[in-house]
Amino acid sequence: MEKVLSAKKKSKELDRNPSIYSYQLHELENWLVENGEKKFRGKQIYDWLYTKRVTSFEDMSNLSKELRDKLAAHFVLTTLETAVQQTSSDGTMKFLFELHDGYTIETVLMRHEYGNSICVTTQVGCRIGCTFCASTLGGLKRNLEAGEIVAQVVKVQKALDEQGERVSHVVIMGIGEPFDNYDHMLGFLKIINSDEGLNIGARHITVSTSGIIPKIYDFADENMQINFAISLHSANTETRSRLMPINRAYKLPDLMEAVRYYVDKTGRRISFEYGLFGGVNDQVEHAEELAKLVKGIKCHINLIPVNYVPERDYVRTPREQIFAFERVLKDRGVNVTIRREQGHDIDAACGQLRAKERQEETR
Ligand code: SF4
Repeated sequence: MEKVLSAKKKSKELDRNPSIYSYQLHELENWLVENGEKKFRGKQIYDWLYTKRVTSFEDMSNLSKELRDKLAAHFVLTTLETAVQQTSSDGTMKFLFELHDGYTIETVLMRHEYGNSICVTTQVGCRIGCTFCASTLGGLKRNLEAGEIVAQVVKVQKALDEQGERVSHVVIMGIGEPFDNYDHMLGFLKIINSDEGLNIGARHITVSTSGIIPKIYDFADENMQINFAISLHSANTETRSRLMPINRAYKLPDLMEAVRYYVDKTGRRISFEYGLFGGVNDQVEHAEELAKLVKGIKCHINLIPVNYVPERDYVRTPREQIFAFERVLKDRGVNVTIRREQGHDIDAACGQLRAKERQEETR
């Protein structure tokens, strides 16, 4: 609770009014009462925001003109404009949204047998510096407000409304390190999970971190039923530091201790994301090292055959080698799957669309 309030405090530091999408229902109700309005208006506003998905306070027709004006004077409703929308041959949709200050962010919608999954962005850029990632090339510009993350889901849901479909799953794996924007990320989780909001079940939400250890402990203590993933990418200290410089600040043994704390505290299984980089971390001995590292931990490993990143030197792992890697893990009793690739024809890897836009802008 305190954490969500402090997120709100941060929104006061914005150079504009806060997004109304940053407010949990009880916070909005408090604001209404403090401003001389009835508490029940909160549910009406939520209905306009999350069920009817209006784009203007003016459209909230069961509210008085006075209240609509008050809302418009205190909050912003439209925080994102769609700059580019692409649809892949497999149905994957990629959105480039422009923020009020001209920065752009990416959001991707993926189609699965189990539903429609949206991958949201939490920061403009990223300061973590993973050496395989295009999103970090320009550094961190700023954190997103909780409402700017919520608005990505609402915008994509509006696009799906036209097809009579629903966003059923959310993954926080887009641009940015979610735990580097922890309070706003937590506010976002609570809003999309609430029955009156977008009502996306906790077990349909996944958050992933590169390994900001103190926040892993905080997140474990929140005890939410949300799926949790660690971007691991190597079980070897030197190789992991080469791929992810954060490993020098938050070391692998300490990370694994935090992982064990999380699993003990929540009773939930944890996922490890493991990107396969040709010749770097994709050999049989690497799989053996990985199996040893996760031994005894209730976990699942997601193998991700990584796309070639134009700005970096990494190359794809050959198909047979991906299966050989998987086989080593399976033979050692490790729960493992290979991630299906989507949106191959529309710049689907994290940060690629934004990087391309930036290049075009600077030409
Ligand atoms: S992979 Fe994620 S944490 Fe790492 S630099 Fe890219 S956006 Fe940041």
